[in-house]
Amino acid sequence: MNTPFRVLVIDDEVGIREGCRRVLVPQGFDVDMAENGPTGLRKLREARYDVLLLDIMMPGMSGIEVLRQIRQMDPDLICIVITGYATVELAIQAIREGAHDFIAKPFSADLLLQVIGRELERRALRKEAERLRALEEETRELARAKAELQKLEAVEGRFMLTLVHILRAPVAVLQNTIQLIRKGYIPPEEQPEMLERAETRAGQLLATLDDLLLLAHLREGIGLSRAEAVSLGEVLEGVLATLKPRAERQGVTLAVDVRDSLRVRANPDHLRALLTHLIDNAIRYTPSGGQVTISLMADPERGVVVGAVSDTGIGIPADEIPRIFEEFYRTEEGKRMQEMGTGLGLPIVRQVVEMYGGTIEVESEVGWGSTFRFTLPLG
Ligand code: ADP
Repeated sequence: MNTPFRVLVIDDEVGIREGCRRVLVPQGFDVDMAENGPTGLRKLREARYDVLLLDIMMPGMSGIEVLRQIRQMDPDLICIVITGYATVELAIQAIREGAHDFIAKPFSADLLLQVIGRELERRALRKEAERLRALEEETRELARAKAELQKLEAVEGRFMLTLVHILRAPVAVLQNTIQLIRKGYIPPEEQPEMLERAETRAGQLLATLDDLLLLAHLREGIGLSRAEAVSLGEVLEGVLATLKPRAERQGVTLAVDVRDSLRVRANPDHLRALLTHLIDNAIRYTPSGGQVTISLMADPERGVVVGAVSDTGIGIPADEIPRIFEEFYRTEEGKRMQEMGTGLGLPIVRQVVEMYGGTIEVESEVGWGSTFRFTLPLG
């Protein structure tokens, strides 16, 4: 035995206490004794024991009472109750109260050692099983983490490739334009148009970079600390002032339905990005003569603001709806209608909504239009 097992004997009979001590000490056990329940409980609180030998019939506090009090103390403590011949029922009750085994008086030294040895072995097996279970769980957890990491690495690789592809095209156009003009290949009267096209591509490049930066910040939770009570109606007014000229140019009517005072706790820049991307998309993917309707209202029962941006535009095929929230994903019809687009607007929308504990869903019918409905917690 390396560190000796510690045994506490609680018994009012000095003969039993001493008898246990005489049997156990030569076997290498460390034995402590108490003559009644309260003293035993105090010792159990003060030190750690492996085995408790507990007399069930004691004046004052009974063994059952002691068992009840130590139940939550140490789950590893082995409790063996000592009973008289006439108290088998009490022994059964003791087992129900958490005792592991019982020995009837008078008992032999062999029986005592046998019962203690068996219970110690059972405890060691129980612990070993627990250790193996924990190890198994840990192995499963590690395998899960590894698979997750591999998936992430693959996604990251694809993300980088798409990104390089997207950023390369406008830079090539810019370089080409500059070279052709510098080398004198372009007559002066053709230069303004060419420069304007280059400027548009540069603008698109900047928009992509701004969206990428915002998405990266959102993912890292940067800017969350600047959350404040914001009126969503006021944010919407600002966004509409910026987008109205574009709607007019495209011949799309804007209709707004804002009820209630809608306060949300968030970084105003995040709310602006959310509304801008949804409304800008609705305008861009709606042909001339169509309409975009924006509504915001409170649902106090659910404690949320419900926002909806509907359009009478080109719509989205049902099987592509889950994909439009992926980075860089654009539908074929969307690309045909709007050559320019970053494919980062909806990933930003989703990230903002999820970051504040809201939801987003889409309903759409090809050729008829789409409705993007979101919720944000009222703050
Ligand atoms: P972008 O508009 O820059 O392409 P988004 O991430 O905002 O990127 O949108 C992804 C794609 O989802 C769009 O390219 C388009 O195909 C589709 N989409 C988004 N909003 C609408 C809409 N209101 N109506 C039709 N298609 C839409």
